[in-house]
Amino acid sequence: MLSDKAISELLDYKSDNLVLSIYLNTTEKTPEAYKLTLRSMLKGINMPSDEEAIIRYIEHKYSREGRSLALFSCAAEKFFRAYPLSVPVHSRIHIGSKPYVRPLANILDAYGAYGVALVDKQGARLFHFHLGELVEQEGVMGDEVHQVRGVQSSKNPVKRNIKESAEFAMAFFGEKKVRRILLGGTEENLAQFQNNLPKKWQSLVVGTFSLGMTANQHEVLDEAIKVGSAAEEKREAGLVLQMNTAAAKHAEGVVGLRDTLRASHEGRIQTLLVDENYHAPGYQCEGCGHLAAEKQDSCPFCGEQFAKITDAAEVAVRKVMLAGGVVEIVRDNPKMAEVGIGGLLRY
Ligand SMILES: [Zn+2]
Repeated sequence: MLSDKAISELLDYKSDNLVLSIYLNTTEKTPEAYKLTLRSMLKGINMPSDEEAIIRYIEHKYSREGRSLALFSCAAEKFFRAYPLSVPVHSRIHIGSKPYVRPLANILDAYGAYGVALVDKQGARLFHFHLGELVEQEGVMGDEVHQVRGVQSSKNPVKRNIKESAEFAMAFFGEKKVRRILLGGTEENLAQFQNNLPKKWQSLVVGTFSLGMTANQHEVLDEAIKVGSAAEEKREAGLVLQMNTAAAKHAEGVVGLRDTLRASHEGRIQTLLVDENYHAPGYQCEGCGHLAAEKQDSCPFCGEQFAKITDAAEVAVRKVMLAGGVVEIVRDNPKMAEVGIGGLLRY
């Protein structure tokens, strides 16, 4: 599975040979269905050794864990990495001098900051997403509460349990730096639970679903993906609006490739927004790596020559990720599709 180390390896990897990157959605009903998708993606590319490595993995090693796969191959350098992912991705193929990381950036962003709490009258189970995986907090809060309740005859044990669950959840979510919360349980329990959260935490709750405490991890993940993706769409629409408004006022926002690349060079981009289908050629300085939308005679920063690159947006994504910025890949948003790329600025 994906790890921080794996991500930095992919971000740093560069080859003089071509790197084949494949994202494959494996949620289709039968393995034959996604193998067919894979074969049609491979059609027309001429990288036989890489194709062989990928087919070999799918046929003999992959045991269909997770909902999708990220595959990276540079056969000339015997580089091959396969990461099953527990969240779904759109199938796609990419060839370039580096692994294609944009969909990974998207997963880390879309699921990275989510926390999930399952709440009932006795206690809570807590989860958070780590690198696209749903991880459950060890130890169920309820056990402890049961014991305490046995000896004490509190006037309102349910009320107290839920209050303690809320405190327990806040501590856990705080530690995991959760910024978006999904809640599972009955309406009544969730209403009580939310009443016990301070205003600031209440505003982080982006969705609820009804799921019993005995739900398995798979069911929790299914619900989290469903509710989470609807909330995600809404949140992204808000960011796009914020970006467009700020850019129109020449405040903390930019739109379009030229202004975005300039802001990225100045280290001003806090959140980079890219339309899912946006690709644009650009120019990169062979000296300092400066990106430009239009060809210039020489780099204004180091004087070196510019080389044409096929996808300036992908290079910008990588740059912002390496600088610790946030990357949002925006889907199905006409306003984002119009501008293609843009950003929210730090200053
Ligand atoms: Zn330069």
